[in-house]
Formats: sequence, C-alpha cells, structure tokens
Amino acid sequence: MIDASFERFRYHKPLPNFYKIENPQIPKREISDNLLFELNELAEKYNFTGISYSKLSDDFKKDFNIDIDNVLIFKFLMGDNLIKMEPCPEKGKLMDDEFQEYGVHVYEFADFLRKNGFQADLIHPLDDNLSLRAIAMQSNDCVITRSNMCLFKDGLHCGFFMIHTSIDNLPVISENDMLWVPDFCSTCGVCIDRCPENAFDENEKLLRKVCTAHREGCNECFLKCPFYRRGYDKVKKRYERMKK
Ligand code: SF4
Ligand code: SF4
Repeated sequence: MIDASFERFRYHKPLPNFYKIENPQIPKREISDNLLFELNELAEKYNFTGISYSKLSDDFKKDFNIDIDNVLIFKFLMGDNLIKMEPCPEKGKLMDDEFQEYGVHVYEFADFLRKNGFQADLIHPLDDNLSLRAIAMQSNDCVITRSNMCLFKDGLHCGFFMIHTSIDNLPVISENDMLWVPDFCSTCGVCIDRCPENAFDENEKLLRKVCTAHREGCNECFLKCPFYRRGYDKVKKRYERMKK
C-alpha cells in the first residue's frame, strides 16, 4: 500500500512507487526493434508523442555526478486548452494534474521493460539535484531556446518523463540538427519582450522565483514564440530563407 503523501511527484519528496513488477536479477542489455516498436506503441496509446534516447558518456556522468548510462525520454504535449487559459492558481493546479497523470503511465512503460527482462527505473522528474535538460540534450534531439525551454521537434509545449535502463543499444541520434535554433532566437527575443513579470535578468537568465509558470501556469513566453505558433518545420524554413 502506497503512503498517500507519496502518490504525487513532488519536489524534495521520494518518487511514488507505482511499479507492479520488480527489476530482473540479471538484466538484458539488447532490445529488438520489434520490442522497441511495441514500447513506442504503448507510449502512443497514452498520448505520448514519442520517445527520444540518451546515452551518457563517462565525462558527462563525472561532470554531473550520476551513475546511469541509458535513458528513455517519454515526450508529451501539454493540452492546448490548458495552455491558453489565463494564468491563475487553478490553472497551475490543472497543469500539475495533467503532469501527474502522464507520469503515472510511465510506470507502466517501466513495467513493460522489466517484464521483458530489462532494468528500468523512473528518474525523479522534479529532482533539483539532476539536470534533466542536460540529460535530454545528450539525445541530440532537442535544444534549449532563448526562453529557457527545452525544444523538441514535437512542439515547444513538450513535457517529458525519463526512465534509465540497462538497454545499451538504444537508437541514439549521433548529430543534433537543431543547433541553428539559438541563432534564430538571437534575431527574435519575443519571449523576453512579452514576459509580463520581467522574469529575465540583464543576461537573459530566467529568474525562477519571479517566473509564475509553476505557481499560476503562465505560458506567455511560449504562446508568443514562433516555435509554438507555427511549429518547428515552418520556423526552420523561415530561418533557411533568412539565411539565403
Ligand atoms: S520567442 Fe523567439 S527568442 Fe524566444 S524562444 Fe521563441 S524563437 Fe527563441
Ligand atoms: S512563463 Fe510567464 S513569467 Fe515565466 S518567463 Fe514565461 S512569460 Fe515570463
């Protein structure tokens, strides 16, 4: 029986334990294409947009003082209706509910992998001591925008949960083709200009205590962002035209 206080993902609290299956004693290290396909299908069933994969190098693990090698990143898009609501404490709560609901499904993904002989454990999505973005960047499948968002091609309003696993042969992308984004951002700056709270300092660093995203669900910086309004591919085409 799970202690009620552990049932939600919370800062400075242990991970909830919704696993139904134990990790195998001797975990497998190679996954077949078919099984990975099945895992993607399972994720899609719960409205996740897809999975990205990170492999952490020894230098990275040393720099960030972590001891995990292979990471699955389960991506989902925050609901459009919710995003467009005016910021208020109720919106903040609804956004948190959405986040928690997606998170519970990720235990099912871990159980799927455990059942098939792999070690699989959630990474705490609100662990202040871990840089989830740095881990995400190791996938070569995302980039950090000027507004300090982690942009995947799936959408700017993409959230994610992570599982670390014994699977060694994840199809990690070898080269990041999104590294043009900071150059585009340098020509834009709408997110900073439109922030109602002036939550960016003179060096454009986000001041978390000033930003009301978590408390009230402010999304103004990405509602105005071309990556949200037009989508990744259209912004890329525009950037390519600009550079001709
Ligand atoms: S609003 Fe402009 S500067 Fe800000 S993240 Fe989006 S593209 Fe980059
Ligand atoms: S979420 Fe709102 S308060 Fe926070 S940086 Fe973006 S626009 Fe500013």
